[in-house]
Amino acid sequence: MSPIVEHSTPVPSAAVLGPFGGGGHALMLGHVHPDADVLGTLLALGLALEGRGWTVTYGGPHPAPALLAFLPGVERYRTLTMLDGPIDVVVLTDCPNPQRTEGLIEQARRVGKLIVNIDHHPDNRRYGDVNWVDTSAAATGEMIYELLTALGAPLTPAVATNLFTAIHTDTGSFRYSNVTPRTFAIAAALVAAGARPEVVSESLYERRAPDALRWLGEALTRVEISEDGRLGWLALPTGLVPERIVESEELVNYPRSVASVRVACLLRERDGEVKVSLRGKGDVDVQKIAAQFGGGGHVNAAGCTVIGPLPEATRVVLAAVRRAVDGSRMS
Ligand code: AMP
Ligand code: MN
Ligand code: MN
Repeated sequence: MSPIVEHSTPVPSAAVLGPFGGGGHALMLGHVHPDADVLGTLLALGLALEGRGWTVTYGGPHPAPALLAFLPGVERYRTLTMLDGPIDVVVLTDCPNPQRTEGLIEQARRVGKLIVNIDHHPDNRRYGDVNWVDTSAAATGEMIYELLTALGAPLTPAVATNLFTAIHTDTGSFRYSNVTPRTFAIAAALVAAGARPEVVSESLYERRAPDALRWLGEALTRVEISEDGRLGWLALPTGLVPERIVESEELVNYPRSVASVRVACLLRERDGEVKVSLRGKGDVDVQKIAAQFGGGGHVNAAGCTVIGPLPEATRVVLAAVRRAVDGSRMS
């Protein structure tokens, strides 16, 4: 058994850099329904390793969403069901829980020599042979920037664009409370290295289909705000609006944008399950609410999946949100 290394500072230790010193075959393994933080970091690190002679495979349990087709190298990211070995290093980024690989991690343990877990989630399970968890990082993108800098790997425009997008999305375009002076310092270095903010934001927010605004309007008619104004939510039955709209619109941000709302919630029904997104504004820890349903995330952004018909799921989740919001008011 390899020793487990824990390291929770912004700069990677020698133990974290060690696996990337040599060469060989690396698998960059993504989490379920990959977002820009996981894809951008896997691609940035993988492209940098390729530049140093590594053979790199990219993939995970689900495909990259169409919205992120602009990320340099994302066409290499494959949907994986079986893993072929041997693999020298398996890297997971932004993945707090090994269950978020739909079983691929168990295969990776069989064919891979070493599992490296790099993440910024507070609830990270430290499931790797090497674990680097920095909860002060706004995005895993910041950590991979530090890793590449420590390795002396060149920041190409492709690498910079991937990392800039990872940080851009996890900070809500540099607006959330996770943004620090370091976030801006890293973003500045990435722009200097060739990331183009206007291209990234146009790619993320201004490539709507002609019918998208009508569907957005349809979805927003479902927003509800509690009588005391502190809860805002949106429950979407299957088929009400196309999945491509739900995936690209970050609908939970609309109830969150109401001034009085302390916790916003999006519930979307899919294949008999309800996927729940929770967002807070600093006074309620939404990760604790998600954890009650087997989910996780961050203080202000978390999620979980609840079984059951949408009305029942909405009732139980909102009851838990209500308890948390009322608890925060008393304290
Ligand atoms: P989302 O609402 O899907 O954008 O997710 C927000 C945050 O919650 C991310 O940091 C996710 O990693 C986390 N998260 C979402 N769904 C789950 C889940 N089912 N289990 C654990 N963490 C989750
Ligand atoms: Mn992620
Ligand atoms: Mn992240």
